[in-house]
Amino acid sequence: MVEQILSVENLHVSFQSQSGEVNAVRGVNFSLNKGETLAIVGESGSGKSVTAKSIMRLLPKHNTYIPQGKILYNKQDLLSLPIRQVQKIRGSEISMVFQDPMTSLNPTMKIGKQIIEGLKRHQGLSNQVARKKSIELLKMVGIPNADERLESFPHQFSGGMRQRVVIAMALACNPKILIADEPTTALDVTIQAQILSLMKDLQEKTGTAIIIITHDLGVVANMADRVAVMYAGEIVEMGTVDEIFYKPQHPYTLGLLQSMPKLHSSRHTPLIPINGSPPDLSKLQQGCPFAPRCPYTMKVCHYFTPEKNQITNDHSVSCWLQDQRTPLENKPIAIGGGI
Ligand code: ADP
Ligand code: MG
Repeated sequence: MVEQILSVENLHVSFQSQSGEVNAVRGVNFSLNKGETLAIVGESGSGKSVTAKSIMRLLPKHNTYIPQGKILYNKQDLLSLPIRQVQKIRGSEISMVFQDPMTSLNPTMKIGKQIIEGLKRHQGLSNQVARKKSIELLKMVGIPNADERLESFPHQFSGGMRQRVVIAMALACNPKILIADEPTTALDVTIQAQILSLMKDLQEKTGTAIIIITHDLGVVANMADRVAVMYAGEIVEMGTVDEIFYKPQHPYTLGLLQSMPKLHSSRHTPLIPINGSPPDLSKLQQGCPFAPRCPYTMKVCHYFTPEKNQITNDHSVSCWLQDQRTPLENKPIAIGGGI
């Protein structure tokens, strides 16, 4: 039986900016099951980080506006909880790892002290017990000479090692959910693979559900159970890894797949970039936001926003090509399955 642990419902997030209102997230819906890994993918600026930060209530107060939406965790709406309660959940039940480990580390404090303080704060452990647990945590994430390394400062670690420390801190309280926002983007490929396999191993041991945000489909193939594809603040397609990789239904998903190097293919297939760039989120036109870049566009795409169509129980897409109301003769090509 799959058990939901988090549910994001009709989330809208806007920012006040000098160029007007930026509608960064526009009606996002997804749920996260216990112990699973959900990947959120999409080009830069598609609203992935804003979605993640909304869950943790980490968006700047002065210019963020959340007109609609709910984020249900333990039957409570994280968006309407008093911030003090969210702060308790943050770091103990839901943890976040960012692209740059230094955003989570204090450069002037020894690593050991930072982990120990966190354990004391969230779990009420004594100094001695917290110290012991810190050493265990560092060992668990593969840091050699863990007891000596407690005395090091963040700058004395390499980038990969720093990210390991941050993951150790994020997992210190056995969170139910780990949100990793581009956790390996800043690291070189070998280290990237090590960190990802570390996260996978730890998940197997602890049963933590993971939301991994990435623009790298290779990471998705290796890590995720399900995938949400975001474009211009919306989830345009969602499905299992196999459905997204082998039966993509949205031209944008197809574009992402065609623009990435094949993972295990020895054949040389040319990469096809997606032409154009994402729309300005403060000046969205009517119709499908992907229409100006879409190779399969029809007239309807320029006038009406596509609605979500359920392809199978766990595969959905928002595209006029997949909408039964679009007459067949209007469809330039049937995508999905055979492409
Ligand atoms: P990504 O998918 O690359 O993580 P983001 O979620 O960071 O994208 O950003 C989505 C959009 O919201 C972008 O247009 C970005 O410029 C805008 N945005 C994000 N944070 C802020 C902010 N604090 N103030 C104004 N605009 C923001
Ligand atoms: Mg981001």
